[in-house]
Amino acid sequence: MQAKHDIMNLQTDLLIIGGGLAGFCAALDATRAGHDVILIEKQPDIGGSSAMSGGCLAFAGTDLQQTDGVEDSSELLFKDLREVGQFENDETLVRAYVDNQLDTYHWLKEAGVVFGTHVEASSGQSVPRVHNVDPADMVRTLAARVKETGKARVLTSAAAQRLLRAVGTRAVIGATVAQEGETFTVHGRLGVILASGGFCRNAELVHRYAPQYDAAVFIGGDGNVGDGLRMAWELGADHRDMIYIKGTYGKHPTDETNHHSCLAVYKGAIAVNQDGHRFVDESISYKLLGDACIRQPYGATYQILDRRILESGDNLTRILDLERRLEEGLMIEADTLEELAALIEVPANTLAETVANYNRYVDEGHDPDFGRRHLVHEYGELVRIEQGPFYAYPSTAAVFGTYCGVRIDAEMRVLDVDGEPIAGLYAAGEVVGGLHGAAYKTGTALGKAAIFGRLAARSAKQHIEEPVECISS
Ligand SMILES: Cc1cc2nc3c(=O)[nH]c(=O)nc-3n(C[C@H](O)[C@H](O)[C@H](O)COP(=O)(O)OP(=O)(O)OC[C@H]3O[C@@H](n4cnc5c(N)ncnc54)[C@H](O)[C@@H]3O)c2cc1C
Repeated sequence: MQAKHDIMNLQTDLLIIGGGLAGFCAALDATRAGHDVILIEKQPDIGGSSAMSGGCLAFAGTDLQQTDGVEDSSELLFKDLREVGQFENDETLVRAYVDNQLDTYHWLKEAGVVFGTHVEASSGQSVPRVHNVDPADMVRTLAARVKETGKARVLTSAAAQRLLRAVGTRAVIGATVAQEGETFTVHGRLGVILASGGFCRNAELVHRYAPQYDAAVFIGGDGNVGDGLRMAWELGADHRDMIYIKGTYGKHPTDETNHHSCLAVYKGAIAVNQDGHRFVDESISYKLLGDACIRQPYGATYQILDRRILESGDNLTRILDLERRLEEGLMIEADTLEELAALIEVPANTLAETVANYNRYVDEGHDPDFGRRHLVHEYGELVRIEQGPFYAYPSTAAVFGTYCGVRIDAEMRVLDVDGEPIAGLYAAGEVVGGLHGAAYKTGTALGKAAIFGRLAARSAKQHIEEPVECISS
């Protein structure tokens, strides 16, 4: 047990707030560069949303893609990110992501993160770009590498409460921290990195920006209530993308055993509402599908597929593992569409007509109702829904993350409301806004955490301010 006087005022090079992917990538980069780090995590265990995620990371131009015969490039990734974000995202942040993504993929591999054996296509990707990991294992691996450097202290059950600024320069030089009934300060010579995640576990704050999601399911790290945002706001930080908070489509509305979405639509399923009608182009970002779903009567919808689509799923990609949902008893199965309609209480004639029309659109290569052209984004040819048994996956939208937050520049410096960097304050991961814009591409939230975490650590080294005397903000 540490003596109380030892921890009243800790000194380090870099203080990192948050023990998810962004925090540990920042910590590994900084410690490997020879800097001392204190990383604080408010929960008893590290991991945050990162550890419970679907484990899909978006990279382009990798060896895995080459093995699968997929041609991809940073430029195509840039184009997809901008398009999916409906050009509402910050081009300089998108550029920072793509310019550092391939190096980060290699860096993660070198650190011991194990990727799956092939790539898949998902939300917003015009080529297969999902690189799979076991997410909890990824965070544990990075934490182990950080520990091996001997230059980091990781404090758990330790919550940052307020940021501290220097007298004179007003640079951020640390934070007050509460741990097991004690409050102490941690000073970071190079500054502070906010890696505290989003705020999907703060219903009141989500309601302020996205009241349409009041009735949605909220899933994410228990500590993700927006502390980082609040602390940055206290210092005058600006924010971005708040109005684009969205649920992700494909969450089973009642099942509590599997918190992941299921995206059969990206393998060729259609989405219908309780009246049996399609309501959207199913190939668009699953965030936009979430918005479309929540507008349907009772927010209730079903993904409708047949045997062939079910079998085209991928058991390495949680959101595309369709047969597992069948094994879990979550897929509703029937030999005919008529029987399926009865089981989900959708008018049988309407469902039959919807599927028949859709199959005709597939044959004709033209969907006059919603303009669907591909399985997902610009990828994959549409398939008919015709071979029984048929399946329905009850689907609603769940808020897995907020994907908006403090405004930063391409060097991960937090900007104030006048657009000026707040000296000594950096941010990375889900606490940051500006990368995704209006919608979200699979794998870019974990990608953002890893890439921006590393960039934040590097930036802190470059922009060191000489702290003077410390005051509370
Ligand atoms: C079910 C689910 C599936 C997902 N699937 C994917 C996916 O497949 N691909 C993808 O790209 N994204 C996915 N996401 C989103 C992605 O997981 C997150 O955006 C990403 O992990 C955020 O990483 P982070 O390090 O910024 O935050 P987190 O991993 O959430 O870590 C932040 C940490 O900061 C801690 N913290 C908060 N406040 C304080 C404080 N005051 N003091 C100290 N510590 C604090 C929190 O407790 C938390 O542990 C998914 C999310 C969920 C919930």
